[in-house]
Amino acid sequence: MAEFRRTEAHATVTILGVSLGVTPISEVSCLNCRQPVDVHQPDEGFPERMLGTCPHCRAWYLWDFDVDSNNAVMVLLPDNHYFKRVAGGTGA
Ligand SMILES: [Zn+2]
Repeated sequence: MAEFRRTEAHATVTILGVSLGVTPISEVSCLNCRQPVDVHQPDEGFPERMLGTCPHCRAWYLWDFDVDSNNAVMVLLPDNHYFKRVAGGTGA
């Protein structure tokens, strides 16, 4: 059975408002390396909430997308080790 250890911390993230215009969200580039980002829709019931992953530099993004206005908020998450460090190790 999984055991959970709760840790509360504040993280600094980069948040960008994006006006996509006619640009498909799948053509938005990574903020770190300017390569195309893979866009994932984890829940079909929430098409406005997506994840972006960069296959080149491994950056992760949250997308909060407004399907009516074609505007979005793009959040660059901390690096992949950040949350493990905050939790105090490997998670074990
Ligand atoms: Zn990248």
